[in-house]
Amino acid sequence: MRLGTVEGMDVDRAALRRALLATAPWLGATEVGPQAVDAGACDRCGDAPRLLPTCGPDGPGAVCRACADDLGDDGWCEGHRREGRTARAWAADLPDRWAQTVTLWWVATGEVRLDPSSVDVTAWPVEVRRALGRGPAMPADGAPR
Ligand SMILES: [Zn+2]
Ligand SMILES: [Zn+2]
Repeated sequence: MRLGTVEGMDVDRAALRRALLATAPWLGATEVGPQAVDAGACDRCGDAPRLLPTCGPDGPGAVCRACADDLGDDGWCEGHRREGRTARAWAADLPDRWAQTVTLWWVATGEVRLDPSSVDVTAWPVEVRRALGRGPAMPADGAPR
């Protein structure tokens, strides 16, 4: 087991990655989502995490879901309008906790450091909580609860 120390807390990054992919398979996308953009806040609002790449280098950068919606077709050049629409439709289907999910993904990949105790883990599956060092202890026999 590989442990990464984040702000003094033990995060099992490999386990977190597995657990997140199991509960949010959309994280596996490579053309859209956190694997398609650099870790960080939206280039437009600076608030929500980046989710979708737009057209560069003079475009709005990598934007969050709300900003992509605001931009609409303007976020993409004429040649990529169709890709932009597909990306926005993909983003529209994500659960509302997409932002926290994306942030946790970057924690799992080591791109973002965050204090796991600051994460509200109540809605997450036990595997995610455990990987963050916030779950119930593994039973002695190793059987899942
Ligand atoms: Zn934004
Ligand atoms: Zn383009």
